[in-house]
Amino acid sequence: MTTKPPIPPLGYKVGILGGGQLAAMLAEAALRLGLRPVVLAKGPLDPAARLVKDALYGSYEDLDLLKRFLGEVELVAFENEFIPSELLHKARHAKTYFMPELETLRRLQDKISQKRALQSINVPTAPMLVLPEGGRVQPWLDEVDREYGSRFVLKWSRTGYDGKGVFLANDPVPLSSRRELLDKFCQASLERGGTVFAEPYVPFVRELALVACQSTNGEFKAYPLVVIEQPGGVCRWVKGPASALGVDPKLEREAFAYAKKISDGFQLQGTFAVELFELKDGGLWVNEISPRVHNSGHFTQDAAVTSQFENHWRALLGLPLGEMSTHPAFAMLNVLGPANAAQKHGWKLPPITARLHLHWYGKADLLPGRKLGHINGHVRKIEEFAELIEEMERCEQGWIDG
Ligand code: ADP
Repeated sequence: MTTKPPIPPLGYKVGILGGGQLAAMLAEAALRLGLRPVVLAKGPLDPAARLVKDALYGSYEDLDLLKRFLGEVELVAFENEFIPSELLHKARHAKTYFMPELETLRRLQDKISQKRALQSINVPTAPMLVLPEGGRVQPWLDEVDREYGSRFVLKWSRTGYDGKGVFLANDPVPLSSRRELLDKFCQASLERGGTVFAEPYVPFVRELALVACQSTNGEFKAYPLVVIEQPGGVCRWVKGPASALGVDPKLEREAFAYAKKISDGFQLQGTFAVELFELKDGGLWVNEISPRVHNSGHFTQDAAVTSQFENHWRALLGLPLGEMSTHPAFAMLNVLGPANAAQKHGWKLPPITARLHLHWYGKADLLPGRKLGHINGHVRKIEEFAELIEEMERCEQGWIDG
């Protein structure tokens, strides 16, 4: 494990691999702490590139560019876990601290090795059937059919996000009538150098998430457990704390214990998210771990004392973690590009009210389904929560209609 870097001087350069909204919010938090964020973005219009003085543009697959970027900074944080760890190994300098470490990234960036690693530390997750290496898809689909019937989920092992790379089958349609579609889905992953695995469809009661933080100084803390709503695999709502919304507080303790086990088992550093399924029998299964700041933690910007982004830097620099308590009830709504996004011109700001907070990413293209921003809201009493949710819905609808 890397030893923690010493507390740096003001203006210390920190690297952020990525230029999207997570990178932008990490950059904002870094600037507030007196750090100097350097981003590797695709281009100058990327959300993070618009905020910082120091940005390099291009693809991380360009090894020379990646080396140049890593030459500028010592400490590197990630916006996502897609960059192959082998590439980062090749490009790293003697003094580069990757947080999390590349070995951790390697184990987590492939969903199959992530699930195996979870099993090895006795953290429950859905069972899986992996397409064997060099295996043929059709006979394997027969096995999926025998094992799980018509309700199953196929997943790409790598590079999936927001439901891309996930095929959900949760109806009585027999697998045999989807063969062509499933074959295409599997081939797309194989062409990208990954493979595919299947899980049974988990008839969960709710999806939950815990955002936690492991500091290089040894401290470990978590924000309250939250309820997440992800129709079609894309996060729409985060609501919490879960314990105020009818989730048994024992599940929060259980999720916290899993997060600690995961943090220790994988030697995580900084903020990370654990997404979970609440099962009908009252148990929990971990669906996925993200070793970085995460959409399910955006509520922390306005509803918690310290945001997940600030705590990420505090953790990576070995500073004391900021307070993680929250308002009594809060919600986050992702604003996705509506169906008419491409045709409409002259979009106005969403009509936020006094208790809502808008976080707009400034993406150049307003494409349907794209995450364009999010709205945070919180209330002083749980009795006001339903009203808050309606207010947030009205705000988004007002924006679409206006
Ligand atoms: P991504 O990498 O796109 O976030 P996930 O594995 O988190 O992929 O899956 C996206 C969503 O698909 C989940 O939030 C959940 O709603 C649904 N999902 C994933 N796996 C299963 C499963 N085994 N059973 C039921 N729903 C699932």
